[in-house]
Amino acid sequence: MLQTIFWSAGASRLGLSDRLGYSKSKTNSLVASLLDVGWLEEVGLAHSSGGRRPETVQLSASLGVLIGADLGATSLDVAVLRPDLTVLAQRSEPADVRAGPGVVMARVRVLMRELLSQCGATPAQVIAIGMGVPGPVDFDNGQPVNPPLMPHWDSFSIRDYLAEEYSAPVFVDNDVNLMALGEMWRLQRSLQNFLVIKVGTGIGCGIVCHGEVYRGANGSAGDVGHICVDTAGPRCHCGNLGCVEAMAAGPAIARLATEAAASGESALLANCLASKGAISPEDVGQASRHGDAAANRIIQDTGALIGQMLASVVNFFNPSHVFIGGGITRVGPLFLASVRQSIYQRSLALSTRHLEIQYTPLAEQAGLVGAGVLAMQETLKRASK
Ligand SMILES: [Zn+2]
Repeated sequence: MLQTIFWSAGASRLGLSDRLGYSKSKTNSLVASLLDVGWLEEVGLAHSSGGRRPETVQLSASLGVLIGADLGATSLDVAVLRPDLTVLAQRSEPADVRAGPGVVMARVRVLMRELLSQCGATPAQVIAIGMGVPGPVDFDNGQPVNPPLMPHWDSFSIRDYLAEEYSAPVFVDNDVNLMALGEMWRLQRSLQNFLVIKVGTGIGCGIVCHGEVYRGANGSAGDVGHICVDTAGPRCHCGNLGCVEAMAAGPAIARLATEAAASGESALLANCLASKGAISPEDVGQASRHGDAAANRIIQDTGALIGQMLASVVNFFNPSHVFIGGGITRVGPLFLASVRQSIYQRSLALSTRHLEIQYTPLAEQAGLVGAGVLAMQETLKRASK
């Protein structure tokens, strides 16, 4: 019942008895006992009229708070959330994951401490901590395993590090798996089979299969960034040639734009390079919106390569939806259109008949929401054992 209430972001007694197949009286007495022990609270007291009790219940704020942290290759987001995932306080800042766990985790800890005190909460009130990192994670022990974008993090125990300050359980997962969890929660588990693709410094894929995040035998499922899209392509940091990540992720877009600026192909990109010293994928999107031909070509080419990789994944997995997130969404609609066109051209008719491809509706909050979902979901799983 608690899981159902959590995943539906609150529920009415009537809705609960329908969904769980319990009688009204069984539902009412279960809800009453969960209200008594403080797991649930009633919502909308102010709106109740005529002495009727409020119908809707949600996870109680008196349980404590959750901490979610979403570490990307170049960004860090930390939030304190209520058990129903309302964000109480949040901080987002640039970070460099390559600086290693000593530097980055020290900053994570400072932000957690500051945000808690901003909410008037103490470490003892933390129910659970969820954290995402940009690389493969051994989910059971919460350690990154040989993460290509995260040198020095191999086998670093985030759990042990945070245990010095928090007695609450710590759950660690790949950042894209957390985005998938975030979307699952937003959709109230209404979609059973879908993909979330993150395109930023790297490229990764979160897989939701039969309504659960699929992590694979060792936790590396969805590591699609190193699928080869051109055997004559440039060398990737993993050592192989022509990985889609080396040819179409954020750094590749920036590199292609810098080349177009240097070769005199685009005056707009050259101006951008001269004034800012570097060109970001976002700048390329901006130039494209001003009709810059080189920027349009770069966005179309990289979008087509990502679509080429995704077409294979779509044929293999047959998802109902593909949600694209990460920094790439700031490039704008032309990128999405190129990815779409390339997927539809190369996938089998049956796998694309009802396929929807869009940017993640949760946008850059998806990973952070997912970190909160992970923390609460695992807590509820433990409570039910
Ligand atoms: Zn690679």
